[in-house]
Amino acid sequence: MPSIRTPAIVLRTYDVFETSTVATVFTREIGKVSGLAKGARRLKSPMQGGLDLLAISDIVLLHKGTDALDLIIEASPQERFESLRRDLAALYAGYYIAELLSDLTDLHDPHPRLFDAAMVTLRHLGDPILRQRRLFRFELACLRELGLMPAIDHCAHCGELVDASGDAFAFGLATGGVICPACRPGQPHVATLSGVTLGAIRALAEPGSAWRKLALTPAASATIRATLGAVISHAIGRKPRLLPYLGA
Ligand SMILES: [Zn+2]
Repeated sequence: MPSIRTPAIVLRTYDVFETSTVATVFTREIGKVSGLAKGARRLKSPMQGGLDLLAISDIVLLHKGTDALDLIIEASPQERFESLRRDLAALYAGYYIAELLSDLTDLHDPHPRLFDAAMVTLRHLGDPILRQRRLFRFELACLRELGLMPAIDHCAHCGELVDASGDAFAFGLATGGVICPACRPGQPHVATLSGVTLGAIRALAEPGSAWRKLALTPAASATIRATLGAVISHAIGRKPRLLPYLGA
């Protein structure tokens, strides 16, 4: 059975037996893994610090197939994010990232771009000015990478391009995103987004750096938080536990 060495973000751990730990990690090479780390809590364990929550570690795994727990045979700390130790808002945002990676991805389903997006977001959570929009961008990256992205450019019903210069747009979870005015009548469970909010979500979803300069009023931020929160809750099948702690 070949071993795999990969960078990983530690999402969750619990203690088992006298000195061992079961860790759920999101690896760059093979996606989410739950693994038994034998003796990880022993004094002088070589894995000391390698399974700290929300840190990046270099992990060596023995992959045991889909049903059994994998074995974590090495875990050495590579990067820890100091802002998560001193800033509660940053810590909640970090836990939210871990919750999304844990609940939205499948075991052994690799998404290296999502790993990189999570790592960059964790690295910069200490910046209170851009923190919220970094989190929005991470949520949008999750949705896109996992094939859960709602339609934001084209009508989810007829496929026509939706011009965001209008006043108000219908947005439906069950209908898959934004709905053009012509298709709106008769569509179930729609929320309403202003053109400004729709434009902001589009800018946040784009590559490049325009999102940094985006003018976001507190009201627009609150609407984006509610909209993305609803899309993610719909994808998971329940509201993420950390969502109420993220602020508006
Ligand atoms: Zn339409």
